[in-house]
Amino acid sequence: MYDLIIVGAGPAGSTLARRIGNHHKVLLLDKRDLHSPVHFAGAAEKCCGGLLNPEAQDALTEQGIALPKRILEDPQLFAVRAIDFDNHMERVYPKRYVNIDRVAFDRYLIELAEQEPGVSVMEQTLVQDFEQLEDRVRVRILHKPSGEVRYLEGKILVGADGAASIVRKRLQERYLIPVSGSLLSGAPREYTCLQEHYALPESFSMPYHAAIFDQYVTDFYSWMIPKGDRLLLGTAIPAGENVRLRFSKLRAELIGLGYPLTEAPIYRSGAKLLRPRPMGSVVSGKDRVFLCGEAAGLISPSSAEGISFAIRSGAYLAEALAKPEKGRHKAYDKALCKMKIDLCIKSMKSPVMYRPELRGPVFVSRLLSIKTKDVHYGGLS
Ligand SMILES: Cc1cc2nc3c(=O)[nH]c(=O)nc-3n(C[C@H](O)[C@H](O)[C@H](O)COP(=O)(O)OP(=O)(O)OC[C@H]3O[C@@H](n4cnc5c(N)ncnc54)[C@H](O)[C@@H]3O)c2cc1C
Repeated sequence: MYDLIIVGAGPAGSTLARRIGNHHKVLLLDKRDLHSPVHFAGAAEKCCGGLLNPEAQDALTEQGIALPKRILEDPQLFAVRAIDFDNHMERVYPKRYVNIDRVAFDRYLIELAEQEPGVSVMEQTLVQDFEQLEDRVRVRILHKPSGEVRYLEGKILVGADGAASIVRKRLQERYLIPVSGSLLSGAPREYTCLQEHYALPESFSMPYHAAIFDQYVTDFYSWMIPKGDRLLLGTAIPAGENVRLRFSKLRAELIGLGYPLTEAPIYRSGAKLLRPRPMGSVVSGKDRVFLCGEAAGLISPSSAEGISFAIRSGAYLAEALAKPEKGRHKAYDKALCKMKIDLCIKSMKSPVMYRPELRGPVFVSRLLSIKTKDVHYGGLS
């Protein structure tokens, strides 16, 4: 029997495994093929923009982690070009991001976790369900290569399995944790993300990443990020809307501004995104089950950045699990308080970013923007 079974080897799960694997027998499970040589193979991919914001950089530093060069993508970016189709304007703002290869990043964090004596990793393994028994948790898994269904047991189960978390879903069903949402609290708003990678001609200079605002595409935002010889175009569209249609509109608008998106994409991926409410979208677990990272609802509601929350919550959970059994949930909830406040503050920023009538005056004021010598695309002012 394992001390801890962690579902999901993203930044949350691998941070937790690394922090706790010295003293405990830990199994880190993931449905992905973590050794696939092709980064964009569906089984290996994580649909993500792959930008580390300053909070994520700080979270890595707190963990004593520096990144090897092989994880960095070309070019490194120091600015965001905000393209506002609603107000027909654009501005450039300073943003100190680190541009990474997300698959290589996840694998590096897993490698670090595997160096701990108690950690074993099981890949291509889909967790299908679990049940809490009196003194342990029994987990049903599907080993994908063999098609075999097996059962594993652990004293504690951790759902670090991202936005579409099966662990969170089952917990909510079984313990009737409220899922209905009001404007401020309750269930997060659901989005469907789509990302496409296009060949990026060497001659096309893009010394920034772009954030695109267009109410006809989404009430959230879209993004373009140069990644070596590729250009990544992504968007998050409210669940239930026609994703293909809205994505086509976005692409056509950007082609109109001169971006090289006319050829067929090299690769496409999708993911669910849960945008938290200012209060009450975070679920930390129950009894022998804990949640961390995006599975717990920890992701920025204003920018969908979640890597810093994942790393920090994984580390907080490791500290809480080191406490006597009775005080663990309390200790973890206390540690998450600061993150919940952070989510609340980020939510307050959202109206200015996402309501065209509020964003327009900010653009007009040029507050905090960088004066660039180069062009304005396609006639935007
Ligand atoms: C389109 C998009 C772009 C984003 N861009 C950025 C960005 O640029 N910067 C940023 O900071 N954040 C970004 N985010 C958010 C960020 O990707 C997540 O918040 C972060 O990855 C969360 O880490 P995690 O470890 O909690 O979960 P994840 O990284 O999602 O890891 C969950 C893991 O669980 C595994 N898993 C899931 N279900 C099962 C199961 N049933 N059985 C076994 N394994 C399972 C998955 O394979 C995955 O490896 C983006 C999100 C999306 C959707």
